[in-house]
Amino acid sequence: MINIQSDEPRYRKKSKKRGEPRAKHKHEYKNCVFQYPSIRFDKAHGMVNDVIKHSIGTYCPVCGKIGDVTDTSWQISERGYVGITVRWNDAALSEFDARTRTLPLFVLDDQWFPKSIPGYENGIIAQ
Ligand SMILES: [Zn+2]
Repeated sequence: MINIQSDEPRYRKKSKKRGEPRAKHKHEYKNCVFQYPSIRFDKAHGMVNDVIKHSIGTYCPVCGKIGDVTDTSWQISERGYVGITVRWNDAALSEFDARTRTLPLFVLDDQWFPKSIPGYENGIIAQ
């Protein structure tokens, strides 16, 4: 026997909060440089990740959430004989160089970008 004692309506109104992002702020993405090792195949050693790569992407300075791993507005695409080649523009190359860099640099463990910058809290990276 089913005994319903609750006065609650059978179908609850959907909570407005459901589905909203957990963050209490609106992410505002800013450019940054990501540095990460890229995996390559070496005949003698198999898969090695000794190639250091850079990318200009975006992150939220408040929480460290990564927006884009590649900001294509810093890239140039050129049509050539082998199809379209995409490369970083001069401004990007100057950001990849530690001597001329103006953007914040984030070093990642591998080429599989996480959703957020590891250890990033309140604008400070714990290292
Ligand atoms: Zn954020």
